[in-house]
Amino acid sequence: MTGNIKSVGVVGAGQMGCGIAQVCTVAGYDVRLVDVSAEAAASGKAKVAEALESAVEAGRIDKSGAAEAAARILPVGSLADLAECDLVIEAASESEEVKRSIFAKLCPVLKPEAILASNTSSISITRLASATDRPERFMGIHFMNPVPRMKLVELVRGIATEDVTFEASKGFVRSLGKKITVSEDFPAFIVNRILLPMINEAIYTLYEGVGSVEAIDTAMKLGANHPMGPLELADFIGLDTCLAIMQVLHDGLADTKYRPCPLLVKYVEAGWLGKKSGRGFYDYRGETPVPTR
Ligand code: NAD
Repeated sequence: MTGNIKSVGVVGAGQMGCGIAQVCTVAGYDVRLVDVSAEAAASGKAKVAEALESAVEAGRIDKSGAAEAAARILPVGSLADLAECDLVIEAASESEEVKRSIFAKLCPVLKPEAILASNTSSISITRLASATDRPERFMGIHFMNPVPRMKLVELVRGIATEDVTFEASKGFVRSLGKKITVSEDFPAFIVNRILLPMINEAIYTLYEGVGSVEAIDTAMKLGANHPMGPLELADFIGLDTCLAIMQVLHDGLADTKYRPCPLLVKYVEAGWLGKKSGRGFYDYRGETPVPTR
């Protein structure tokens, strides 16, 4: 644990929120987890407990450590239940509207000294900060997916973020055992500014019939030494999140090279959001993933 941060609130119990809750509790923080309902928060806690069990089986954590970590997560039913937290990390869906409405409800209940952070993949930290009562205590703390396995966290300051907030955020991220890279506040920061156009290009490659799903992923795994193919990775990130990031790049940088591929739009419109919904560029409903094109 670090400095004045002892209790961490996590908003959004999806794949990122659960991962963030897991690394925080393993590092000794008390965690309060909230989603759109008490049931969703409880199911998030159950997923973290399951992930901790797998970590025990893999020998990454001992049994009692995992049980203690699971017990430190409290799923709660409303944002008001985060009133005592020293740091709140928002990890809800990649939509500025959703994030703004969360901050509007959350800020009035937070302690004045609490730090508020967003795990956004792409949205301006300065703009999100301006929708809060504490732009000087607002940060972009951008974890990578899957959070327990990925070493990096990108830190992004808004224009008004004070040094003390930045230093506290650095101390917090280091206490989780993660490495830090600092990005300026531009659309999609560093990792996604580079990664998402590559994924979008892979989807154009599929759309134009240059190769099948399998050919594109195999080409990039064996030909460029990527651990996952770009379409497999898109499914893993979530196609809704990929599209939202491309839209932020397209709107924010006003360059047609960031135009989201129409095929990506179509998949999202179909509700084929990738692994989390059971179908994307692969169909995950059987025993092994099967390409959908
Ligand atoms: P997800 O779809 O798995 O989860 C989003 C969660 O937010 C859902 O459980 C949803 O119910 C919840 N939510 C929506 N509105 C809410 C509200 N008003 N109050 C509380 N909870 C609400 O998405 P994710 O992949 O976990 O992404 C979450 C955030 O993390 C996004 O900002 C995304 O850009 C960012 N991120 C994602 C990745 C990735 O690879 N998926 C990586 C880094 C950062």
